[in-house]
Amino acid sequence: MSSKRKNNFFKTLAFRLTLLYTGLFVVSTIIAFACIYMMTSRALIEQVDEDLLGDIEELSLIYVDGNVEALQEEFSQEVESDGEEIVFFRLFDRDGQTLFTTNLDAWGELEDGTSLARRYKIEGRPLFSTITIPNTKHKARTLVAPLTDTLLIQFGESLEESESYLAVFVEIFTEIMLFVIIIAALCGWLMARGALSGVEEVTRTALRISKGEFTQRVPIKLRGYEIERLASAFNYMIDRIQSLLNGIREVTDNIAHDLRSPITSMRGTAETTLMNGSDIDDFRAMAGNTVEECDRLLSMVNAMLDISEAEAGASKMEIEEIDLSKVVRQACEIFQPIAEERELSLDLQAPSACNISGDLKKIQRLISNLLDNALKYTPRGGTISIEVSAHEKERIITIEDNGIGIDENDLPYIFHRFYRCDHSRSQEGSGLGLSLAQAIVTAHAGQLNVFSKSGSGSRFVVTLPERLS
Ligand code: ADP
Repeated sequence: MSSKRKNNFFKTLAFRLTLLYTGLFVVSTIIAFACIYMMTSRALIEQVDEDLLGDIEELSLIYVDGNVEALQEEFSQEVESDGEEIVFFRLFDRDGQTLFTTNLDAWGELEDGTSLARRYKIEGRPLFSTITIPNTKHKARTLVAPLTDTLLIQFGESLEESESYLAVFVEIFTEIMLFVIIIAALCGWLMARGALSGVEEVTRTALRISKGEFTQRVPIKLRGYEIERLASAFNYMIDRIQSLLNGIREVTDNIAHDLRSPITSMRGTAETTLMNGSDIDDFRAMAGNTVEECDRLLSMVNAMLDISEAEAGASKMEIEEIDLSKVVRQACEIFQPIAEERELSLDLQAPSACNISGDLKKIQRLISNLLDNALKYTPRGGTISIEVSAHEKERIITIEDNGIGIDENDLPYIFHRFYRCDHSRSQEGSGLGLSLAQAIVTAHAGQLNVFSKSGSGSRFVVTLPERLS
């Protein structure tokens, strides 16, 4: 493994999680062991204390008739059988004067009898203490207690046996601990790898997509809710990017296609005039055609700039208080002569005032685009109904015609830039009117819905919030 890869490995989340998991596991095991160790050691000492108290009872039985020799004999036998470094006995009167003691060479400096007798007098109960045997470094437990009304006895017992029991306990624990660390690290690594495999898959897919494999998606497997959500969000993001890219491609194709017609027309007219034009009238006609085609081109370019501006949202808007009823009424007045020319009736229903906050010019553009379409796609004798209404915090404009309607196959695309249904090719237009309308409504945080059926007319419903937040 190169040093760079090794460094990267130590930086991986899987490694850090494994370390954390193992660390937590080891620390909690050590705490549990420490508790057990302390409880066991206390239980062992309590056991020793009980034994020492039991020994006192036995010794007082031996001394029952004041037989000091029998007692000394017993002490000597105990020391001989257990060893001078394992037990010792000291006998005092109640003032602490030593009456008898076994060999104390191995026990170092012991507290003198007077002091022990004083302490016993103050506390009034058996005195237990733990001391260290200087030579062996083992601990020992000592007890000072009354043997009779006139005698005090002190004797001690090495804790060597308990210590070796605890040492075995520590040894076994250390071995188990090593095993536990390996198992914890292995489990931690497997768990971290399992949990992060989904993230790994997202990374792999992202890398493949960045190399041009745009159809790649992260498989949604059962790996836990968070990973599934990440995979779905990632796939959704890629779908959106792809549809945006397709949209851009489509728009570029459409622009190229729609620009080609006027340019070809201008070129054709110019070429024909140059080859065959004989008088000034031919050249005038060519200039007129060129101006007309240029106007078409300019209106397309302007519409596209307007869409971009509307899509920029509230930042590019001049928000003011608008009376929607007034704006729609004015639009109807403007379109009335065209409607009359086409023998169409305009039917307006609007309250005396209906206020919203918005960009006046853009709202005017929205209404005129929808009205223009209604007039364009309704045959002679038809009716266009316009209604303005207010519902709580919403303002609704409905523009309904009984014209040619829209085929259900076309409906999903009519808001796309440059999209024109086949039947409308005979009419003038660029396929940008509804895209602009949609962009304006979205910039005003509203909704534009269409209900239409081929041959039965169309209804466009604009819902705008009363106030822009
Ligand atoms: P256009 O410049 O072609 O009118 P729009 O973006 O305004 O472009 O509309 C897109 C297409 O939606 C139109 O070409 C037309 O086919 C269809 N359309 C829009 N409004 C209506 C309507 N009121 N009735 C029937 N078809 C409509």
